Amino acid sequence: MIRTPVRPPFCPPEVVLHPGDVTDHDATRRLLLEVAPDEVYNLAAVSSVARSWQEPELVRAVNGDAATALMDSALALQDRTGRPVRLVQASSAEIFGSPATAPQDESTPIAPTNPYGEAKARAHLAVGEARERGLHAVSAILYNHESPRRPQTFVTRKITRTVAAIARGEADELVLGNLEARRDWGWAPDHLGAMVLAGRHDLAQDYVVATGESHSVREFVAAAFAAAGVTGWESRVRIDPTLVRPVDAADLRGDSTRARSALGWRPTKAFADVILAMVESDLRPR
Ligand code: GDP
Repeated sequence: MIRTPVRPPFCPPEVVLHPGDVTDHDATRRLLLEVAPDEVYNLAAVSSVARSWQEPELVRAVNGDAATALMDSALALQDRTGRPVRLVQASSAEIFGSPATAPQDESTPIAPTNPYGEAKARAHLAVGEARERGLHAVSAILYNHESPRRPQTFVTRKITRTVAAIARGEADELVLGNLEARRDWGWAPDHLGAMVLAGRHDLAQDYVVATGESHSVREFVAAAFAAAGVTGWESRVRIDPTLVRPVDAADLRGDSTRARSALGWRPTKAFADVILAMVESDLRPR
């Protein structure tokens, strides 16, 4: 069901929100036909890999089936109006599963190893299919993208929030799982910028969106403590084996040569700057 449009206070006046449930494919299609957008960006997803083991069916429905249905609806809109529709799917590095080599690029085999990656892979493949059917459809294969708005279900925000609490004397320890996993951590606004560039480019093709650098969780932790001015971080971190995932990619690092050359895209924040922005935000009084 799609409810009546609303305009919450934080939205610019030209933004109209239509709250709804993307797993209601018919209602989403009706809305798309009514609003008739030129561009569609699909960011609707259950975004946590960890949660995808707890609720695999929900993740398949939202991240996979709903995305696929949205592409069908975009094609229906295009057929009805005769105007081209551009669709950008927020795909994920998780479609590559635990790749044998790093960096990965657009030709890396799709081999997901968790329900999140599996559902994102289904949507990713549907983008290619929709493109064959005449939709200007693009998959932006997003690597980890962070900001102070990240929820604490992600390791980055969990770290910066807890480190800030330790710096203020409000917490004693940071409890984590696998410290050795390496991720390509970028700045979320940069990745969103790449999605818009990709959707507006003349050629509809898929793009890896990544900084090209990976760092371990351990490096992230050390840099966050340093940014908060807390020394001796090793004694503050405890490993909880229940937080270690059954399958965890060792090194997700993206080669975004295609996005850089075709779209002129560049990340604006390096690893240390992303951490600094998040720690500074978490240190600010609320
Ligand atoms: P993901 O790459 O999209 O799954 O992003 P996350 O931020 O959830 O996880 C990044 C990496 O941090 C993964 O390799 C996790 O196994 C690792 N990690 C280590 N400790 C934790 C933790 O306490 N929470 C989360 N979410 N991830 C952790």
